[in-house]
Amino acid sequence: MRSIFSKPRYTPGMKGTASARLRHVATLVLLPLLAVPPSFGWGDVGHKMINRLAVEALPADVPAFLRTPEAVNEIEYLGPEPDRWRSPAEPELNAAQAPDHFIDFDYAEIIGTLPRRRYQYIAALTAAEITHPDMAAVLQPDKVGFQPYITSEVWERLKAAMRAYRELNAKHEDTKPVEAAILFYAGWLGHYVGDGSQPLHVSINYNGWVLKDNPNGYTTDHTIHAKFETVFVAANIKPADVHPLLPALKPVGDEWDDYLAYLRHSQSLVEQLYQLDKQKGFDGAGTPEGKHFTAERIAAGAGMLRDLIYAAWVQSANPIPQGRERPAAPAAAGKAGSGF
Ligand SMILES: [Zn+2]
Repeated sequence: MRSIFSKPRYTPGMKGTASARLRHVATLVLLPLLAVPPSFGWGDVGHKMINRLAVEALPADVPAFLRTPEAVNEIEYLGPEPDRWRSPAEPELNAAQAPDHFIDFDYAEIIGTLPRRRYQYIAALTAAEITHPDMAAVLQPDKVGFQPYITSEVWERLKAAMRAYRELNAKHEDTKPVEAAILFYAGWLGHYVGDGSQPLHVSINYNGWVLKDNPNGYTTDHTIHAKFETVFVAANIKPADVHPLLPALKPVGDEWDDYLAYLRHSQSLVEQLYQLDKQKGFDGAGTPEGKHFTAERIAAGAGMLRDLIYAAWVQSANPIPQGRERPAAPAAAGKAGSGF
């Protein structure tokens, strides 16, 4: 459903053309966005819960090593792993991967349909910086975010490792080393899929309402992000709250299209989250509505992760497409970055 990008999505009360609106937004939010968003996903508790629930809910026909208690513990541990890469002790790593945790669709949609590959997306945003010079600062790719790109890339790593597992298994060779790789990729993937169910990870209103149109008086305090995803979850949400809300297994057809639809659904819940916040839904013990909303979002993350891990397993059996997408680089070129 890549066509979802042909129709811009705006919150109620937004008027005018896409370009005019985005310029307006850009002026308003320029300064806050110059700082790296505090995108720590669901916090330790939520990310671990998503990863554990997902792997425990895998269908029985995945390899048995994925379902052992040790595997479940490992994948659970890896839920918050990319947030462990955000320490000032590793500043280069932090800077390089922080934009992988979010995407501001409000800006990304200026380029229309998102290309499937990271560098095509970077090129498109860079071109948009030139055609929209007044928005150049906010259209920098690392400010807009790479959420669906890192997810797709890690999912493909998982699928490649599962293909290697099938090959080794067929030859009756030792699969232990590739099993370790599969557990790592599955756990790593879980972090981003979890981030993707958190509505504040796909919106410019990621930490307080920044749109000038705020007729409903949503909070503009820069506290809602951590309050919702970390403090409220840790204090109030248990696996028993989430488990009954796990969606049924849904086959993943095209990973990119299905994952974008999942992110777009999260985006559609941004305003509801602000409404619940206004009703004190996430303060202290919150309200039943706030708790249900949060548990449903965590369940959605776990369900999508389960579906993606299972899809990687199923699709790892597919034959490798034959033929090259583009001619090989001339042998004499010897250019750095050719990948060979
Ligand atoms: Zn994150």
